[in-house]
Amino acid sequence: MPTDKETIDPMMGKGHAVLGAATWTAGTAYALPAMGYTATPAILLMGCLPVAGAALRPDIDHPSASIAQSGGFITKGIAAAAGKLSGGHRQGTHRLWFLLVCAAFDFAVVTLFGRWGGLALFFVYTAFGTQALAKTTLHRGLGRRWRKSTWLLSDLYSWVFAGAAAYGAYLVFPDAGSWWWLAAALTIGHLSHLIGDSLTTSGLEWAHGHRIRVPLLGNAGSRRENLLVSACVVLMVVIIASSVFGVSLELPTWDDLPDWFPASLVPAAAGSLPG
Ligand SMILES: [Zn+2]
Repeated sequence: MPTDKETIDPMMGKGHAVLGAATWTAGTAYALPAMGYTATPAILLMGCLPVAGAALRPDIDHPSASIAQSGGFITKGIAAAAGKLSGGHRQGTHRLWFLLVCAAFDFAVVTLFGRWGGLALFFVYTAFGTQALAKTTLHRGLGRRWRKSTWLLSDLYSWVFAGAAAYGAYLVFPDAGSWWWLAAALTIGHLSHLIGDSLTTSGLEWAHGHRIRVPLLGNAGSRRENLLVSACVVLMVVIIASSVFGVSLELPTWDDLPDWFPASLVPAAAGSLPG
């Protein structure tokens, strides 16, 4: 069994967590207004945390993965069992069917248990996400020694933070019926993991015998992966900041092109688009 985290997955936990959170932020900032809803700072920010955690979910099949490390012996035990049951790392839990099963579970929880079900999911996935995200800055900043000598602190802080964030979510989303967004968010995070893995050198088998491989990112920890992660962070900061300050972020249309832009380069179909 590989002990080095870089060898267990073509894309590392922090990369998945950031990619998931950015997919959520960018997706909701554009999709919600298009559907007639407002993408409030609360929904953008509150979504980022559990989505980052759900983006780690497929890696629950390996005891060295970020998600397996975040809840002490409980998550390590689950990971060991999941690895055996799913046939090894990047097997069962990385298939499309597992995404559909998890999505059905998440939607069932928020439908059956409403607010409390939503808060339970929010709490658990926020703890996973916080830990993976904090590893990039907090853990590096404080050093490996701190991590090793204070195992309790290095694991527990993410659960304490998740508890505080869940209390915030409890205040922000009071109705039982308003929690479907969380199930959708977790599904988006999980899906972003499969897409992220497909962009690496080894690609990903979405269904038995059906591998998708678009190796744009190269190997684990590549410069391209780091560039994508940094770009995602910038994108999230810009989107959340503009929603806080009430600046609407509209995608440019062909009509927004300056006068000097040669008309011959504009696709002919653009003329027939509404607006
Ligand atoms: Zn993976």
